[in-house]
Amino acid sequence: MAALIAVLPGDGIGPEVTREAQRVLEVVGERHGLELTFEEALIGGAAIDAGHPPLPAETAELCARAAAVLLGAVGGPKWSDPGAAQRPEQGLLDLRATLGVYANLRPVRPHPALLAASPLRPELLADVDIMVVRELTGGIYFGRKTRSESVATDECRYAVEEIERIVRMAGRLAQTRQRRLVSVDKANVLETSRLWREVTTRVVAEEFPELTLEHMLVDAAAMHLLSRPASFDVIVTENMFGDILTDEASMLAGSMGLLPSASLGEDGRGLYEPIHGSAPDIAGQGIANPCATLLSAALLMRHSLDCEPAAREIEAAVSAVLDAGLRTADLARGGESVGTRAFGDAVLARL
Ligand code: NAD
Repeated sequence: MAALIAVLPGDGIGPEVTREAQRVLEVVGERHGLELTFEEALIGGAAIDAGHPPLPAETAELCARAAAVLLGAVGGPKWSDPGAAQRPEQGLLDLRATLGVYANLRPVRPHPALLAASPLRPELLADVDIMVVRELTGGIYFGRKTRSESVATDECRYAVEEIERIVRMAGRLAQTRQRRLVSVDKANVLETSRLWREVTTRVVAEEFPELTLEHMLVDAAAMHLLSRPASFDVIVTENMFGDILTDEASMLAGSMGLLPSASLGEDGRGLYEPIHGSAPDIAGQGIANPCATLLSAALLMRHSLDCEPAAREIEAAVSAVLDAGLRTADLARGGESVGTRAFGDAVLARL
């Protein structure tokens, strides 16, 4: 099978971490007989600096042709003037919309060797393995906005089909895991949440009868994520609740540099990126943690290239390198640390 991967390094540490992920994809792809080709393009501040919009037309066109997109991060102080005509982050929002990636998957599985890095007690984290499925292209972030001198409004809107497709995505994932689905809403207050609950109940009953479905109010979910995180398997939720809960859940793993994400649409095409930003404070120093991007590359193998063995090999290699005690500076706690390239080398050596 031949597949084109669009690589969008972006800004700050983006190029440093995507470089390592591409090296790993090349090695694993070859081993599994995937004929991968990689094409790089500009996005974000790097595109603005080159005289383009934050999502240049050529980049959008490349991503539309590609089987998957691997992205670093966008943004930084250089482009953060509130009065600026163009902002790097708009490039990413436009890309998600162009690709129609409506489901954002964030697996949270704290590494056994890094439990001390989380602010939570290690005994709460031992068996945590959560997949958060966040609706990415609807809800209050995309609703109509109004503003007068004294009043502002943001409309929250969900259509039945938008809920059905994200619940199906979560249901399919739950089937391959512990078969427990928690749907998070605010049905005691919000009409969109009442529709969400109704549709979720119906889709699970009709299409995923083998799953255990629990409805949970978002405020309770925020609490239970900290008090009993190991009790969750798959969480499905709407855009804004997912945005907040996934950042909360990321702290279970200990560092921003560890967590990957996949954003998926209907046709298997996906956008893969670490959850962290461009980390301008450490950019260009070669010390960024590449784990989140390497693990995003594993998700790319799993969800867009349908190559589960390759995904597992990457995950196992990253895990083995952490087990062996290698740490980038964000996790070294003042101890010995290795740079981005050395960490990538160690993962390649394992592979
Ligand atoms: P950030 O995630 O870039 O950094 C937060 C902190 O975590 C920093 O101290 C940074 O050094 C550290 N960190 C992040 N990733 C790391 C890694 N891989 N290894 C080691 N340390 C790491 O968030 P921020 O500082 O709030 O944002 C910086 C810029 O990134 C802003 O312009 C923001 O808009 C942008 N941003 C982009 C994305 C994206 O592209 N998806 C996401 C979030 C923020």
